[in-house]
Amino acid sequence: MGVDYHQLAEGRAFMLGGVHVPHTKGAVGHSDADVLLHAICDALLGAACLGDIGVHFPDTDAQYKNIDSKKLLQQTVALIKQEGYNVVNIDSTLCLQAPKIKPYITQMQRIIASIIGITEKDISIKATTTERMGFVGREEGVVAYATVLLQSA
Ligand SMILES: [Zn+2]
Repeated sequence: MGVDYHQLAEGRAFMLGGVHVPHTKGAVGHSDADVLLHAICDALLGAACLGDIGVHFPDTDAQYKNIDSKKLLQQTVALIKQEGYNVVNIDSTLCLQAPKIKPYITQMQRIIASIIGITEKDISIKATTTERMGFVGREEGVVAYATVLLQSA
């Protein structure tokens, strides 16, 4: 399982699941701050007992500055395969107050499926608000949770 948090700020592009989601705010981070792809990377690394995203792609390393997180997912999948695993399926939940992300889910599934090499049907992406409670409800931040199943190749 993986979880990731990012602050939201005005003037940042909002990348979610590899898709640019038009919004007044975007996630802040060293990379493109794609909270969903980061949670999926962490879940994949965790399931293979390979540590976490910070170990493999440190935010102190200049080569990851503003990097497209699709590249981080690609490299993570390569690490998983090196360890002798295949990805079976993924379930995930995005927690954010706004905007509505339902119109973008199919596109996110398509992008993630093509990187991992599994079908879109094996990538579940759900979204919830926090009913205006807490930092997510105040639109100060965004959270993503992901769970993955790996299988020995
Ligand atoms: Zn992150």
